[in-house]
Amino acid sequence: MRLSQLAEKIDSEIDQEFSENFESGVSVLLQPIRQFVKFSPYTYKLLKKCCGGDRVIDVLFHFPSNLSKRTSDEDCFKDGEKLTVVLTVLKHVVPRYRNSPYRIVGQTLAGNIITIMYFHYRVPYLRRILPIGGAFTVSGNASRELDGIKIIHPDIIAPPQQAARYVGAEPIYPLVGNLSLKTLRYAISSALKLIPKNLDWLPNELKNKYGLVDFSDALRAVHYPESDEDLLITNKFRKRIAIDEILANQIRLKQIKRNQQRRSAVAIKETGEILRNLQLPFELTKDQVKCLEDIKTDLASGRPMNRLIQGDVGSGKTITAFLGMLIALENKLQAVLLAPTEILAWQHFETIQKLSENLDLEIDIMLNSNRKARKRQIRELQDGTTQILIGTHAILEDNIEFRNLGFIVIDEQHKFGVMQRLKLINKSKYPNILSMSATPIPRTLLLGCYGDIDVSTIKTKPKGRQPVETAVIGTNKIESLVERLKTIDSQIFWVCPVIEESESLVDVNTRCEYLKEAFSPKGVEVLHGKMKAYEKDEIMTRFKENKFKLLVSTTVIEVGVDIPNANVMVIEHAERFGLAQLHQLRGRVGRGNESAYCILLYHLPVSEVGRKRLQLMKETTDGFLLSEEDLKLRGAGDILGRDQSGFDVLRFSDFSDNYSLVRIADEISNQMDLDSTKTADLCDIFNRVSDENIV
Ligand code: ADP
Ligand code: MG
Repeated sequence: MRLSQLAEKIDSEIDQEFSENFESGVSVLLQPIRQFVKFSPYTYKLLKKCCGGDRVIDVLFHFPSNLSKRTSDEDCFKDGEKLTVVLTVLKHVVPRYRNSPYRIVGQTLAGNIITIMYFHYRVPYLRRILPIGGAFTVSGNASRELDGIKIIHPDIIAPPQQAARYVGAEPIYPLVGNLSLKTLRYAISSALKLIPKNLDWLPNELKNKYGLVDFSDALRAVHYPESDEDLLITNKFRKRIAIDEILANQIRLKQIKRNQQRRSAVAIKETGEILRNLQLPFELTKDQVKCLEDIKTDLASGRPMNRLIQGDVGSGKTITAFLGMLIALENKLQAVLLAPTEILAWQHFETIQKLSENLDLEIDIMLNSNRKARKRQIRELQDGTTQILIGTHAILEDNIEFRNLGFIVIDEQHKFGVMQRLKLINKSKYPNILSMSATPIPRTLLLGCYGDIDVSTIKTKPKGRQPVETAVIGTNKIESLVERLKTIDSQIFWVCPVIEESESLVDVNTRCEYLKEAFSPKGVEVLHGKMKAYEKDEIMTRFKENKFKLLVSTTVIEVGVDIPNANVMVIEHAERFGLAQLHQLRGRVGRGNESAYCILLYHLPVSEVGRKRLQLMKETTDGFLLSEEDLKLRGAGDILGRDQSGFDVLRFSDFSDNYSLVRIADEISNQMDLDSTKTADLCDIFNRVSDENIV
């Protein structure tokens, strides 16, 4: 064998070895962290909760949220910063009184005197670790006092040559429960050691073109921020991870589209067989008619439908989607409607049952809470008895199969992950998908949330609908407001931002106590997100049946709930909500023909942006206008929590603030092979366990 051949052979062996390493590299990241660090089951559970998953990658994806600074500048460190200095120990001062601290006095290289203090100590131990005459790197929270600089219980004592290592910034991580920063850091530093060397799915040309750093480097570097700027998405390492996450999302959207197109499609035409007998209690609005036409055209095209109906709450999307389903039924296909919560599923079920009273249809509802019926339900789906199935994510389970599913409606689609969409597509014979969104999505964001999708918009409101009248008032007028509310017949929603008492916000329980006194103890009930699903359902049902007058709740009532007799919505701390959210909440009322009121109750102080929002809410009920304005006013940072109506699929960025990233990711995704192992690795990395059960 010639030498060059030998070299080639070795090269290819190395290549092979490299690629094997590469693969095992990804799989290491997907392993449970438990395999690499030992914790008690309790700590392990906390860690999992804290990181949103228990894989090595979940731990690595838990990014620092803050920095605690360490400085070695003893002359001008700031209070609260950690000071790291090299000290030569001069003397030990044993306290004369029992409760006084043990002091060790030392001198820095610059000649300053620094005193280390211990309140809990064992003398022999301290004498051993800090002997007189020795020099040490010492680091801890320092304070400057009249008689010099003091460090209480230093957290690092190391040889002098290590001083440089402890200067700079130390990352602080978000924690949950009793999990300590030390434990979390230990888990993270163990995980950091497992990052494979050259893990990447993007070829160099793409990285160069878009100025992206290597993935492995990014994954490591995000844990070593040096300044506050490094914590922002503009930091090149964070940006790389954020882009990859959006990229994984875009790739899945493309896979969905391809899977959808690969399945056979037929031209589905209206026969009139069912629709002929339908008696709607009202006339469709102009936009509903147009939307239905769009659906019919899609179905007749012989290509799978992928359409989004956007329309304000109560604009009549569900009815329109139902008419689309009927066309599928006329062609002997089954239809399914997926809703994000049980309350909504029930509501859809009731609406659709009522509308199809004289149509003789087989309609079923499938929820996690009605498992008892499952056997029968599965049988009837498989033999084609059930024509319309309505339900929550219970529908997505593997053992749920259809005979000939041909029409899929997804309500509030952004509440579901892409994987869930894929599951439904794979259950269907002809995957025609109709998504519904009450959150108007500006054009620029559609790509990120839905990929390639056709859009129909319902803007006209059904006839006889009164616009909700909006008033903005301060909490100092709460008493007269309550007096007024007592005199009206309507049921009332009263929304508070938080469940538990907090320093500056009124919480549901406090408000409930107050209102119970003002109204009557039996007339007021509470609803919030920490309650069990059945408890929430029970309260909602009783409210719907008009069993009590006033419902105090957090924003859990936001999505889609229809209570025709509730015509008043009070939103407390309205100044702290985003426009989209306020609009969604306001949409809960004004669904009947009575006039409806929304009272935005603000607490001082109100920020400039908050003021603007309240003003806009008073001036307009146009959801599209409000959502555009919402984008403009974003980033003001005083909005409570994350916008619930937002798109929770992303973790490292969100579509609205980072549209340029979406565009880059989409461009990159066009240049990637959807079936390569690298693409699969990328998707695996960003596939969170929690994606499976977003509700
Ligand atoms: P969305 O799904 O957009 O929130 P729905 O389809 O649930 O809205 O409709 C809201 C309410 O308006 C329902 O009670 C429905 O019966 C009623 N509705 C729908 N379309 C019309 C219409 N064209 N005229 C009158 N009422 C309508
Ligand atoms: Mg709805």
